[in-house]
Amino acid sequence: MPPTPRVWQVCDACGHRLPDDDAAAQCPVCGGLLAIEHPAPVETVTTLRERFNHRCCMTSPGAMQSGVWRFAEVVHPTADQLVSYPEGNTPLLARDAVRRFAGCDSLLLKHEGMNPTGSFKDRGMTVGVTQAKRIGARAVACASTGNTSASLASYAALAGIPALVFVPVGQVALGKLTQTLAYGARTLLVQGDFDACLSLVREASARLGIYLLNSINPWRLEGQKTIVFELLQQLGWDPPEWIALPAGNLGNTAAFGKALREAHAWGLIPRLPRLLAVQASGAAPFATSFREDFAVRHRVKAETVATAIKIGDPASYERAVDAIRATNGVVTDVSDAEILEAKAAIDAAGAGCEPASAASVAGVRRLVREGAIASGDRVVAILTGHVLKDPGILQWYHQEAVPPSASANRPIEIAPSLAAVEQVLQNR
Ligand SMILES: *Cc1c(COP(=O)(O)O)cnc(C)c1O
Ligand SMILES: [Zn+2]
Repeated sequence: MPPTPRVWQVCDACGHRLPDDDAAAQCPVCGGLLAIEHPAPVETVTTLRERFNHRCCMTSPGAMQSGVWRFAEVVHPTADQLVSYPEGNTPLLARDAVRRFAGCDSLLLKHEGMNPTGSFKDRGMTVGVTQAKRIGARAVACASTGNTSASLASYAALAGIPALVFVPVGQVALGKLTQTLAYGARTLLVQGDFDACLSLVREASARLGIYLLNSINPWRLEGQKTIVFELLQQLGWDPPEWIALPAGNLGNTAAFGKALREAHAWGLIPRLPRLLAVQASGAAPFATSFREDFAVRHRVKAETVATAIKIGDPASYERAVDAIRATNGVVTDVSDAEILEAKAAIDAAGAGCEPASAASVAGVRRLVREGAIASGDRVVAILTGHVLKDPGILQWYHQEAVPPSASANRPIEIAPSLAAVEQVLQNR
């Protein structure tokens, strides 16, 4: 191993620098968000790529099997006792039915729902909780629309650190809330929306000395960068034209921008893919700002079936603006109906995802129709969460909605007789 380079936490707003083991949740000088600054790797691109590739086929148990810690040198080079499930190593799927639906011939789906707790949040959480352990945090906390809390609960249990989660009462999908309870986090149902939960947990963690693990935590974003590193590695470091992802609090959009800028600056890729960030129309402050060339930062009261992106005042706004600008990216929004239609196509192709995830495919379809994406462009769409996260929406869509949508797959109740089965088959 080469000598470990120095890593800093740097304030986005004023440039103030903190050592990599400082527990501050934001800049102590100006309150700005902190980002991790990596020196350029000392190794050649070839050596680095070879090391990453070699770790893919490691058979010994341990964190280097992880699709996050495989990239440790460019994520958290100074981490030692890793809190890893392991996570990552998610598949890139080619599904003809989804390609036809989106009108995009070489669309690939990177299924982050295949992470241990069923969403990409595990990639950030393994790094965030490793850091919490490193600095001796007595407890960890987050506000969440559900997936962050499920992930934090699991990784905190693994690390043996108490976890406190703040979720909006009545607005969290069933799979996520029950997971969080199962993994043992102290769960607070806040009478307010996600944005209220976030400001409450920020205050509480500052006052009570609890380590904050929302996506404003810079280490979480370092972990989430590996979605991009891993997909680039899977493509032999030959980048696609576009990477599409759902956008809520904008932590992931920010992480993708950072990963792409770094991969390009360090020579891992020859050119930058364009980012396509997709919001739900009822929670689209970022898409509105994009249309005005980011002249104004908007805040809205969020409303959408896609609860994971039901966020009206995204915390990582500025970083996400940088990510879109740096990649010549696009921000769009899609209606709940378009999200559910895309989800039905993804589900029926056997891939499956939660509603928010389908926004990425719905967004690709929209840009193909608008002519911004050519049907031959190589596009990777991120499926952020697992189909079982939100059983409530599935029950409504397939069994309850009146009138049923064209893709609804109603179950058929029958008498226990062969005649009844034959009847059903004839009616197909
Ligand atoms: C967290 C999450 C998102 C949104 O990511 P942001 O970083 O908040 O923009 C999208 N989909 C799923 C399934 C999520 O859990
Ligand atoms: Zn500052």
